[in-house]
Amino acid sequence: MANITGREEIVNPLQKSSLNKKGLCDYVINVASGCLHGCTFCYVPSTPAIRTKQMQLKSKGVNDPQIEWGKYLFIRDEIPKKLDNILSRKKKWVSTLAGKGVVLLCSGTDPYQNQTTAKITREVIQILLKYDKRVRILTRSPLWLKDLDLLVHPNVTVGMSIPAINDELMKRIEPFAPPTSLRYQALLEGAAAGCRLYAAIAPTPPQMGFEDFLTHLGLLMQIKPEVLFWEPINARGTNGKRMLLAGLEFANSIMNKTSWAENFLRQWEQIEHASQVLGCMDLLHIWADRELEGVVDKDILNYWWYKPTVENWETEVFQYSDESRPILKRSS
Ligand code: SF4
Repeated sequence: MANITGREEIVNPLQKSSLNKKGLCDYVINVASGCLHGCTFCYVPSTPAIRTKQMQLKSKGVNDPQIEWGKYLFIRDEIPKKLDNILSRKKKWVSTLAGKGVVLLCSGTDPYQNQTTAKITREVIQILLKYDKRVRILTRSPLWLKDLDLLVHPNVTVGMSIPAINDELMKRIEPFAPPTSLRYQALLEGAAAGCRLYAAIAPTPPQMGFEDFLTHLGLLMQIKPEVLFWEPINARGTNGKRMLLAGLEFANSIMNKTSWAENFLRQWEQIEHASQVLGCMDLLHIWADRELEGVVDKDILNYWWYKPTVENWETEVFQYSDESRPILKRSS
């Protein structure tokens, strides 16, 4: 099936976000609906952003937005104009302790997946910086390197999702996204250019263990990241079905809540241990899933749900303290 592409209008592109619970932002802007990277685990098609648009998508030729995820993209090219208008009138700005008033591009698509979205993204960043807003880019594509003239800025941080630097394995999991080796190379180039950087080691497949985390963290430390987010793959919804359809048999091992939680905790212990060995534990930021309630001590979950990252934004530095960080403890 050929990709379905087009445009989409959106009334308000600047949306408040609950992703402060992941230490990411207080606002999100999605420059498109759909995503041509088509990652098999992607949770976006099962969120209201796509589920509430079934009829609209059908009228554009997308019959099953879940299963056809990765095959459609509707760009929102009016966003820059609308955003400028909104920000010129906006008086109040939400800035929570963990979200830090940051605007994330993007939570439901990849801002640099192709030249068209990259152009909209560039214009959006220019406008956000014009109004002194903090910007977080999250992408799987090295195309952001073309915007280094804008992105090397104290109010911008650029992150790439790199679950593992293993092109063969990741090609099976993220079939249409650029190879992870190229993503890593892009981060090295960004670091050399003086860009503020972070990485999302997410989502990690269950076959990764302590030695893999040790190697991976060691490589990522070369880019001098300000924070390293981590979470494992979740295969409990329709994304599990998509993973199995893509021939990813390992999804079977994390399909029910018990096996998923067991894998989560094993990898959590292993990546924490690896970061301890490498002396980068302060940078590791755990994205603790809400469904770990009852499995992990509530105090530990609360710590991760409300913790600001250790990133250094120009006007504020989160003071990290060794004493405040709990080590994973399972509920008895
Ligand atoms: S790049 Fe992000 S939004 Fe796009 S398919 Fe992959 S996980 Fe989903």
